[in-house]
Amino acid sequence: MNRDKTVKNKNTALADTIASEHTVTDDELALINKYTRRQFTSDEVYVFSVVLCDNDIDRDYERFTVEALFELEKLFVGKTGILDHNPSASNQTARIFDCKVEAVAGKKTKTGDDYFRLTARAYMPKSEQNSELILSLDSGITKEVSVGCAVGKTVCSICSEDMSSHLCSHKKGESYNGNLCYGMLCEPYDAYEWSFVAVPAQPKAGVIKSYKKKTEVTSLTEILKALETKETITLDSHQSEKLCGYIAQLKEKAQQGEMYCEQLRKSILSLTAVAEPDIPYNAMAGVVKKMSIDELVQFEKYYKGKLRRKPLSPQLCSEKKAVAEFKNNEFKI
Ligand SMILES: [Zn+2]
Repeated sequence: MNRDKTVKNKNTALADTIASEHTVTDDELALINKYTRRQFTSDEVYVFSVVLCDNDIDRDYERFTVEALFELEKLFVGKTGILDHNPSASNQTARIFDCKVEAVAGKKTKTGDDYFRLTARAYMPKSEQNSELILSLDSGITKEVSVGCAVGKTVCSICSEDMSSHLCSHKKGESYNGNLCYGMLCEPYDAYEWSFVAVPAQPKAGVIKSYKKKTEVTSLTEILKALETKETITLDSHQSEKLCGYIAQLKEKAQQGEMYCEQLRKSILSLTAVAEPDIPYNAMAGVVKKMSIDELVQFEKYYKGKLRRKPLSPQLCSEKKAVAEFKNNEFKI
C-alpha cells in the first residue's frame, strides 16, 4: 500500500441543515442505541445534521472526489466530535451514528459538476453539561465543524498525476491555459475525530484549515519536491539521514568533477603552449579558469585535433622549457 499519509482538516458549515432536523426516527434511535450502554429514549438525545465535506473546490484549491465522499461515508460513522477551543467543555462530545452522501438537486460545483456532500447525523445526550453546546448549535453560534481525514493521494486537475510525485509540476490555485489547478483528494483511508468550531469575531480568523503532511515520504525525490514547495516541512530523523547522505554524495561528485576540470585545464594549457605560443601562459591560465566544463572539453578536443593535424613548428623548441614546467603527462604528439 502506497500511502502518503496526507492528513486533511476541512471546515464546513453545518448551519444549513442543522435547524430543522432534530426529530429522531425509530430507526435512528436504534442506531444510536448501538453506542449506548442502556437504551435511550428519543427525549433523552439531541440529534442534528452536519455537512462534513463536499466535492466543491475549497479555499486551499482542493476538493474531494465523489468516490472519496462515499469512502468517507463509511469511515466517519461512530466518530466522536468535540467542542473546539474550549478545554472546560472537552467532555462535551457528540457521536456520528449515520452518514450519507447526498446530491443537492440543481446545485453545481465551481467546476460545473453536480454537487454532492457528505452529511452526518450526530447525537449527544441532553444533559446540563451539554446544554450550552446545544444552545450554541441551535442559535447558530456554533456553525462550523472541522473534520480530519487521511487521504491516499491528491491528484492534479491539470495533469492527473499525484501532486506529491515528481511527475506533476503544477501549483494549486494557479491557472494553466485558462484552467484552474486544484487537487483532487482521493482514496481516503482514515477519518479522525471532528470538532465544532465556534464562529469567530473576525470572519476569516477562525476558518483555519491546517493540513499537516505527515510526510512519510521515504523517497528522496519526494523529500526534495517537498523542499521545493517552500512550505514549512518537518523532517524526521530517517528523512534527515537520507538528505544528509544525498548531500554527502553530491559533495563527493562535486569533488570528482573539480578534479576532472583541473586535469582538463592543465591539458589545455600544455596544448596551447604549443599551438598558441604567442599567448602568454598566465593569460591563458586566467581564461581556462573561467571556462565551464563543457568549454574545457571542447577546447581540449579542438587543440588536440589541431596539433595532430599541424606538424610541429620550430617555435616549439623555444617553448619546450615552458611546456616541461607543466609536467603534463598527457602532452604527447
Ligand atoms: Zn500536475
